[in-house]
Amino acid sequence: MTYIHNLGFPRIGEQRSLKVALEQYWQGLMGTDELLQTCTRLRKRHWKIQMDAGLDYIPVGDFSYYDHVLDMSLMLGVIPERFDWHGGDADLDLGFRMARGRAPSGENVVACEMTKWFDTNYHYIVPEFSHDQSFSLSSDRLFAEVAEAQAMRLPAKPVILGPLSYLWLGKVKGRPFDKLLLLQRLIPLYREILDRLDEQGVAWVQIDEPVLALDIGPDWRQAFADTYARLGKRRLNLMLATYFGGLGDNLELACNLAVDGLHIDCVRAGDELDAVVAAIGDEMVLSAGCIDGRNIWRNDLCRTLARLKPLQAQLGERLWLAPSCSLLHVPMDLQWETRMDGELRTWLAFARQKLNELSVLQCALDHGEASVSDELKRSAAAVNARRASPSVHRENVQQHMQQLAPAMYKRRSVCSERLPQQQAWLKLPCYPTTTIGSFPQTNEIRRLRRLFKTGELQDSDYRSLMQQQIAQTIRFQERIGLDVLVHGEAERNDMVEYFGEQLDGFAFTQHGWVQSYGSRCVKPPIIYGDVARPDAMTVEWASYAQSLTDQPVKGMLTGPVTMLNWSFVRDDQPRSATCMQIALALRQEVLELEQAGIRVIQVDEAALREGLPLRQRDWTHYLGWAVQSFQVAVSGVEDATQIHTHMCYSDFNDIIDAIAEMDADVITIETSRSDMALLDVFESFDYPNAIGPGVFDIHSPNTPSVEHICALMRQARRRVPEERLWINPDCGLKTRTWPEVEAALSVMLEAAALLRREHSA
Ligand code: GLN
Ligand code: ZN
Repeated sequence: MTYIHNLGFPRIGEQRSLKVALEQYWQGLMGTDELLQTCTRLRKRHWKIQMDAGLDYIPVGDFSYYDHVLDMSLMLGVIPERFDWHGGDADLDLGFRMARGRAPSGENVVACEMTKWFDTNYHYIVPEFSHDQSFSLSSDRLFAEVAEAQAMRLPAKPVILGPLSYLWLGKVKGRPFDKLLLLQRLIPLYREILDRLDEQGVAWVQIDEPVLALDIGPDWRQAFADTYARLGKRRLNLMLATYFGGLGDNLELACNLAVDGLHIDCVRAGDELDAVVAAIGDEMVLSAGCIDGRNIWRNDLCRTLARLKPLQAQLGERLWLAPSCSLLHVPMDLQWETRMDGELRTWLAFARQKLNELSVLQCALDHGEASVSDELKRSAAAVNARRASPSVHRENVQQHMQQLAPAMYKRRSVCSERLPQQQAWLKLPCYPTTTIGSFPQTNEIRRLRRLFKTGELQDSDYRSLMQQQIAQTIRFQERIGLDVLVHGEAERNDMVEYFGEQLDGFAFTQHGWVQSYGSRCVKPPIIYGDVARPDAMTVEWASYAQSLTDQPVKGMLTGPVTMLNWSFVRDDQPRSATCMQIALALRQEVLELEQAGIRVIQVDEAALREGLPLRQRDWTHYLGWAVQSFQVAVSGVEDATQIHTHMCYSDFNDIIDAIAEMDADVITIETSRSDMALLDVFESFDYPNAIGPGVFDIHSPNTPSVEHICALMRQARRRVPEERLWINPDCGLKTRTWPEVEAALSVMLEAAALLRREHSA
């Protein structure tokens, strides 16, 4: 008999009910009791869904009011000093204050940092450790939830983040020290937690150690072995869960840890399966993560079964099945997608559908394939249809891909020859000024887009109203004196969605929400087929903007890597191939913009860095095709056309070669919060192209000061020659109000004038 279990279920709920409840609570419109009751209902509903799907073990503790890493900090009493906590129950509002800097009760305070959870788009709250860090059991929430599940007679499997991953993900504050030193104090607390769960009579605890898929090095490997040896034996069993990648050089270690079961990600590292089976102890359970928890495609059940059958023969009852990782990273239920193309829908599986797939696999293994022949047939039919579908495989795109040639990966001349040709017509002053693209997205703009989408506003009316917005934005920029103008991006709901909606091969969901952080969710597009561009996407808006002014208008596109990294991507061809198809579509757009007289074009690659693989050995390959895709998108233009790119970060130390290879004439980056320290790399590397280090933080409503901006730019010019410096904000201005933008940009322009005077003096 084969067991099936789940590693974690989406928390946000149907119709994003958790989001709604949280936001009401934060605004004071809902009391604590009501929030708690709402969340209890939500958990129970999610447990029931998982029971109905036939799971043998149900995760408990995967639910969170904000973030599961934060929950771990609350449970372990890792509360930074500024939160003024002196022991006792680490309650809900303390958690919200750590996450958001404020809660209905308690003082406002600087929130903890948030960062990306491995290579997902989920963000966790970073634990902060001080050298005198102590740990104490400070929240009973997990035990209470276990009791709640047990009262419903559910086979509860508590989920906790393992001690090594927890430490790895945290950050040392104050005096530096080796985080591993904290293990001495941390292990007893983990023992206490496991003892408590043992007393509650749970059979299995899932202990997540995803850092085993990273390059952790020998010290951490040793610490893993020591720690698990010291956690101790009890009645309950430990299922150590790894995911998001292969174990690689941690494989032997993971297979020999003092635990009772090991979960591995067979979707991303199926090739390690045999090695793991050979290496695990005779008593150990192997949980095969065979359903993709990171993507939305229906499983090829027959193929998976073929892989599992020999394993079952070998392992018998020691074989468990699960999704590859928590289902937190996929939308909850396909059932709500009533408007999606009928055929595409049959190719997809969201969280609920994935659990059903597990149960079909279980039946097939335990009772023979005949017992689920209909389900297997449907799966095979979907796989075959996808393989043969003309909406997936487009001949013109394939032909286009075959025409890729080395000349398409490079601009005609090197940057030092291009810049003078650009300057010959741009005639920009020293320290040219520009913005990153978007201007405030006012309620009026959102209303117009909504009316257009629902058909209440006709195409021609919508166009002329948007043109008015563009005209206002152009006049504003002329009035305050910017050098390179933008049209303002009023027509864009989202920088990926806007393009995806106009490209073949992209589909959108109505309710496919995935948690990004706290109450924030995103609805990633689905790239299901070959990508092609039937029509121009931005040319009309940009040309209109340019027709209104003698100043150069910068065209604005989202880059191929960013579109890829923020979407659910095809699993039937390499990511690199999908990325290159997007690049080819963008190349046409870039060339049409150029023909239309838009001769400064920015291609945003906001998500290039976050696509870096988890293991460093895979970086070169990724950066290779990522840079090549960017190059294909932009390098068809004349030397005199200026290509900009923008990135929402500036930590380029480890990828500076790739950044240089992208060879954008101008790169605008985020630097204002780091005092330009992050520009050091440009000094030592001798980056040949122009750079616009962001001079004010667009996330803040505060107006920067002229002195501050000048000071930042003086720092910058110590590292980058003055002739190659631009002045611009950190990122787009869409979340700000017009008065904030006017104030901040005026200051920025005043600073530019001052720096120019210094230059000519
Ligand atoms: N051009 C986009 C904007 O200004 C860039 C946004 C981003 O980098 N995230 O909004
Ligand atoms: Zn940005």
